[in-house]
Amino acid sequence: MSTVDLPAASPSRSPRSAVEPPRKPAGGWAGLADRVLSGGMVDRDEARAVLASGDEELLDVLAAAYRVRHRHFGNTVQLFFLMNAKSGLCPEDCGYCSQSKVSSADIPRYNLLAPETLLDAARVAAERQSKTFCIVISARGPTEREIDAVCDIVPKIKARHDLNVCACLGLLDARQAQRLAAAGVDKVNHNLNTSARHYPSICTTHTHADRLATLQACREAGLALCSGGIMGMGEEPEDLVDMAFELRHLGVESIPLNFLTAIDGTPLAGSDRLSPRDCLRGLAMMRLVNPEAEIRIAGGREVHLRSLQPLGLYPANSIFVGDYLTTPGQPPAADYAMITDMGFRISRGAETPASRGAERPATDFPVPRPIPNP
Ligand code: SF4
Repeated sequence: MSTVDLPAASPSRSPRSAVEPPRKPAGGWAGLADRVLSGGMVDRDEARAVLASGDEELLDVLAAAYRVRHRHFGNTVQLFFLMNAKSGLCPEDCGYCSQSKVSSADIPRYNLLAPETLLDAARVAAERQSKTFCIVISARGPTEREIDAVCDIVPKIKARHDLNVCACLGLLDARQAQRLAAAGVDKVNHNLNTSARHYPSICTTHTHADRLATLQACREAGLALCSGGIMGMGEEPEDLVDMAFELRHLGVESIPLNFLTAIDGTPLAGSDRLSPRDCLRGLAMMRLVNPEAEIRIAGGREVHLRSLQPLGLYPANSIFVGDYLTTPGQPPAADYAMITDMGFRISRGAETPASRGAERPATDFPVPRPIPNP
């Protein structure tokens, strides 16, 4: 896996784009899809135009994003399963997060779960047809003991189940990233969350540059990258565009796009004002800027997309099944029904461009039984 040169600073914004409405793409939305499918790239103005598009254009925007999604993922949907392995004990001050030191949200607080609990959660993930089991801890970064525990449990999970493992452990240095890679971790999640410009508005205890350094360390260790962001944190459209282009620059393989669930007790409580159409435009922009990336409709799907959830699968090819870190998801049976009703199917094939050539054939799974969270 090649390393990346990280941007020295936030991607530059043209003075023009800051003041003028975005230009619609020449050839319309279908023409934009044609260009992306021919290997062309969406520019910043076009990305802004997707976010600014009117409701009357929404189906055309989704159709363009779907054509690009279909080229790389067909009608498959990849499922991810989140396990909050250490909850509510983080010293950081991320304003959107119920697990931060500045949050008074009523959430479970516990230290790193026992290995048997993680193994049981991995069993549930496999039974739910998840492709990836995500081990998440609330922390600025992992302690040595936590790294030891993750490195110990990952081989056991992979010996029992056909699961990819993604670790989300906070800031990592090169040595920690190398240890995770050596233990068999496939991928690390570390979200950019928003643009470099907007970052100080959502967190003061670490920086956007700190997050980039973690992604760089993981890339250099040979780990695949999962990194995305959150819509609805008071950002400007330009901030979403910055983030999308930064993720493209980094070559991120898997991009979760969250929609802020502004939990009572967090600094951003009461600030989520997204419409379901905003969420769809955000997903479509992310797809068109990052054509080959796995794009996941992440936290806030049920709250913000509401009755339009199925349309999110036109730009996105992945969802979480089950609960989020501190908020409930819809019952898995509702996810399976949505996928089936859309004519899509669950796949556990490879996700990175390099490995897609050897993709396992997509499997049509029977609709699994609902299984309660562990
Ligand atoms: S570092 Fe992670 S767990 Fe900690 S407050 Fe920020 S988002 Fe929450």
